[in-house]
Amino acid sequence: MKILSDYSLTELENELSNFPRYRAKQIFDTIKQGKDYKDIALPNGMKSELKENYILKPLEIFKTLTGKDGTKKYLLKLYDDNLIECVFLHQSYGNTICMSTQVGCRMGCKFCASTQNGLIRNLTAGEMLSTIAIVNADNGRSVDRNFTNIVLMGSGEPFDNYDNVVKWLSLITDARGFNVSERNISISTCGLVDKIIQFASLKYNITLCVSLHATTDEIRRTIMPIANKYTIKKIVDALKLYVHENNRRVVFEYCLIKDKNDSDEDIKRLKNITSNLLCHVNVICLNPNGGSLKATTRDEAKMFVEKLNKIGVSATLRRSQGEDIAGACGMLRAKSLK
Ligand code: SAH
Repeated sequence: MKILSDYSLTELENELSNFPRYRAKQIFDTIKQGKDYKDIALPNGMKSELKENYILKPLEIFKTLTGKDGTKKYLLKLYDDNLIECVFLHQSYGNTICMSTQVGCRMGCKFCASTQNGLIRNLTAGEMLSTIAIVNADNGRSVDRNFTNIVLMGSGEPFDNYDNVVKWLSLITDARGFNVSERNISISTCGLVDKIIQFASLKYNITLCVSLHATTDEIRRTIMPIANKYTIKKIVDALKLYVHENNRRVVFEYCLIKDKNDSDEDIKRLKNITSNLLCHVNVICLNPNGGSLKATTRDEAKMFVEKLNKIGVSATLRRSQGEDIAGACGMLRAKSLK
């Protein structure tokens, strides 16, 4: 079965060329509203023909949890019964949707719940678009949008699903669709260097984030298997190219893990890594998910950031939202699978 949200408006018009042209736009708008066949007025013959060949709404809300701070976490069920997560964060500068790009993940990072059961499959561009549509509709707007920013920081490695993520970018920024500004989109990668280089050449104005989490390759290899393939030096070189091509500041995510990556030596090495690069360091407190890795306290993390700032490294401590509802990457899905 094909998924209708995988198509751009022009592609839909071509795909459905045996129907009146305005029907494509009608379906395109229905997708944006997060609706399904039952909600759309179509001639019976057309509806049944479409239903036989196409999925209109590839996922639905399976479960929601709302945190004390208003953060809303979604467990969404895909048409093939797979589960993915999405988070809606209320923020003063505009609401943010954090979404998944894959069912599971094969990157194997030690601290991350998303990867515990490996990769099940990639999400299609349309499934990612429909995620946004459904979560947007659930937050009160079916036609306009009730969010400003999108971050690809849910389950999955976006650059391990490169083609679909790039297609999704073209759909989500389409002026006839959600019309999200490139500047309000962040993509987070564990550092697939060849894809960073490839992506740089597309000249998207998005914010590229790289999960660094360590200041030596040796330490990085103990928590992130991808470090066996790409060194920190290679990542930094690729990011320099990205900055050169796009003139956008890149972001390092640095998840503090007690006695692993939180020493004064790490601070000095972070200074070296970031010194010739237009970048910012986003320090995160580890959200422990049962493994042997321990979190540094929030006060220790604040100190870490202060020390970085003191030696001229642009860094902030990420505000933690939704902790009481298993807000971190893949935690809710992992719980549900159990
Ligand atoms: N695969 C992408 C997107 C993943 S999630 C990537 O690796 O960047 C987004 C961020 O959350 C990443 O920086 C990831 O390393 C971090 N993360 C995952 N599990 C975490 C946990 N338990 N505590 C804190 N941060 C976590």
